[in-house]
Amino acid sequence: MRLKVFLALVVTIGVAITANVAGAQELGPDFKKLKDGIFVYSQKPADSNATIILTSEGVVLIDSGHRPPDSVALGGAVKKLTSQPVRYLINSEPHTDHTVGHWMFSAPAVIIAHAGATESMKQGLDPERVRKTVAEYSTLQEIKNFRPIWPHIEFHDRMTLHVGDRSFELQFLKSVHSEADTAIWMPNERIVFAAASVGVKRFSNLRPFVKITDTLEAIKMMRGLNPEIVVPGHGPPGTVKILDEMENYYTLLLERVGAMVKQGKSLDEIKKDLRMPETEDWEGKDRFPNNIEGAYRAVSGK
Ligand SMILES: [Zn+2]
Repeated sequence: MRLKVFLALVVTIGVAITANVAGAQELGPDFKKLKDGIFVYSQKPADSNATIILTSEGVVLIDSGHRPPDSVALGGAVKKLTSQPVRYLINSEPHTDHTVGHWMFSAPAVIIAHAGATESMKQGLDPERVRKTVAEYSTLQEIKNFRPIWPHIEFHDRMTLHVGDRSFELQFLKSVHSEADTAIWMPNERIVFAAASVGVKRFSNLRPFVKITDTLEAIKMMRGLNPEIVVPGHGPPGTVKILDEMENYYTLLLERVGAMVKQGKSLDEIKKDLRMPETEDWEGKDRFPNNIEGAYRAVSGK
């Protein structure tokens, strides 16, 4: 008799769990399944990616969506996939397009970022923009709880996180995009999340502190992991080709700018004269002059 009750319970739980398991198709066209239990929300190529990772002991998220509706979609997808809570939210970088959605997950998720992320987020906080965000998305029911949320944990250089049956190796990427960029490596699944160190056929905005030489080092480090899948901060996930393409671009850019500096050309002349036919089909061409500035800093040792 007791066994029967027990079996009935097992069956009920089994049904409850399977009812919660959705596939990528059921999540809609914005989600791509990378591997079993790993789904990336990659809505538009220019927008930030966010990834849902199911583990045997709860959910891990990487970034929280480009805009509030993306964060709400992400939250909805988690609910379709599992009844377990989001336990950890890892930030690949502190900029708003990766962190605006923290309010959707911060209770109970623990937010993890590299040192410097909180300061960067606080500096980037514009109360007027927060007010506008809330007004713009006022039709979203969830927006009433909107508030900026800072990381709960900041790590230095490296951190390993074990959650259920999965492991995450977090590594700081110095001077590649923001003040606190993190590559996330899942060694068993062979997936690397490259943050905004690389894009896909898209010029990056190289802020004055960004170093192309450090970016090339970061690419080398990530390729050395021998990943099967590379997920950039923005743009469709792919293979190691994403790393190769960015590496080729920056190497060529350094070579060409270096040669022009040797000829005695000024930065302005280089900006006027330099052609890069290899990147004809890339997006964000308005950032090309800024990329030349980055290469100029690198070759002239500034
Ligand atoms: Zn950014």
